[in-house]
Amino acid sequence: MGKVYLIGAGPGDEELMTIKAARVLEKCTAVLYDRLAGGNILKYVNEKCEIFYVGKEPGSHYKTQDEINELLVKLAKDGHIVGRIKGGDPYVFGRGGEEALRLAKEGIPFETIPGVTSAISVLNYAGIPVTHRGMAQSFHVFTGMSAEKLNANWESIAKSEGTLIFLMGLENLEKIVEKLISNGKNENTPAAVVMRGTTSKQKSIVGTVKNIYSKALEAKLKSPCIIVVGEVVSLSEKLNWYDSMPCFGWNVCVTRTKKQAKPLTEKLLSLGAEVTEINSIEIKETAYNLDKILCKLSEYTHIIFSSMNSVNIFFEYLKSKEIDVRSISGVFAVVGTATASSLKDRGIIPEIMGREFVSEDLFNKLKLKVNEGDRILIPCSKESRTYLKEELEKLKCRVDKVDIYEPILGRIKNEKAFEEVDVVLFTSPSTVKNMIKLVGIEAIKEKISIAIGPITEKELKDNDIEGYICEEHSTEGIIKKIIQLKGDLKA
Ligand code: SAH
Repeated sequence: MGKVYLIGAGPGDEELMTIKAARVLEKCTAVLYDRLAGGNILKYVNEKCEIFYVGKEPGSHYKTQDEINELLVKLAKDGHIVGRIKGGDPYVFGRGGEEALRLAKEGIPFETIPGVTSAISVLNYAGIPVTHRGMAQSFHVFTGMSAEKLNANWESIAKSEGTLIFLMGLENLEKIVEKLISNGKNENTPAAVVMRGTTSKQKSIVGTVKNIYSKALEAKLKSPCIIVVGEVVSLSEKLNWYDSMPCFGWNVCVTRTKKQAKPLTEKLLSLGAEVTEINSIEIKETAYNLDKILCKLSEYTHIIFSSMNSVNIFFEYLKSKEIDVRSISGVFAVVGTATASSLKDRGIIPEIMGREFVSEDLFNKLKLKVNEGDRILIPCSKESRTYLKEELEKLKCRVDKVDIYEPILGRIKNEKAFEEVDVVLFTSPSTVKNMIKLVGIEAIKEKISIAIGPITEKELKDNDIEGYICEEHSTEGIIKKIIQLKGDLKA
């Protein structure tokens, strides 16, 4: 018998998920998610986890609640550790209670993990504090789904001085304001509707109870939205911090390996972007190819690295073979600052450094330092160019190019994720090739493509994809380019 976790995933911004949810997701062997439970959460599941989409789109029911309950029961009985990811908090209008009751009835062990509810956090991101001294001493959360049939006491709701929050209410907005006004709510009370709060698609409109319905229609808001009524809405103009962040409004797709994506993702998030990680590349290690040269490691005069992966895989392999790094006496040469810093992390300062992604630059520096007969080791990707080896051999050096890893096609965890993307960052030719395989070339052409450097840009061009290129070929360069483009494209 397995176990089920009902996991609150927060309102959309992936960083509003809890640490506990992240820990639990890591060990799940099967997860169920839907549209509200932000797709970016799936990056926290492990590589082997089975992923089920059980979205309940308004109108087109993918799976009924009964079917979801059945699936939970079946997976748990099959021995899975099941994560049921739910938007916001599982028990706030999330039918989490029904799912938990069903599990209890079957005797299936379960835990529920609270989440940051949209009812409060979406207001926060729109600059609306849910309570405020002198304005609102309480807040009240309602379902707006069945405003007409709802057995609510509209008279007391309308009289309440607290902040009124309606979830699932967009379709009934007209009825909701009508009920409030006819039951005595001052029609000049501030009101707002916030669509897809805490994400790059956040849009909020502010007005009064009287005009909020026509404003919402005009703005063509779509579900999910939160309706909020109360004096606190008047603070939004001063307190809205989110949509003025430099990268707000852009969903940026990072296509590198999971490990390499992290610093870029974090930087983008800190600037207010939403990040969709599609790890289009996975790294298959082939470090055993080093076995044939390990006995002559001390003889190399130079060791060249052109990627972080090659540095990390090389040294981890030496460690696994109990080889002391002091057996290497050669000079270290690297391409790019990121490669240099992973070498420094291992206590080694590279003596020769070429600019990002350009082996030509490294060669120009290297050729001044090598002599005929030097022995040079290049541990690298199977897909690395043979340029350096060939040029160094022309100088009569003896070069061993050893393939210690191979980038292979990654997988898409969230089939819906790419639809939401505005900008795609391509950080190597293989990210271009693999993204085409994963999402299709036409889907990519609809987005803004950015290439990190000339070689990646060429791959885009070869595939007839228009794109921008970063002036600086680094993480900082990517960020600068995004901010610049965002300004330009807006203007
Ligand atoms: N359990 C969820 C709520 C589920 S009900 C929670 O605690 O947040 C679904 C409703 O939540 C939607 O119709 C909408 O009113 C609201 N909602 C959820 N996420 C939202 C978001 N990011 N922006 C606006 N409304 C959201």
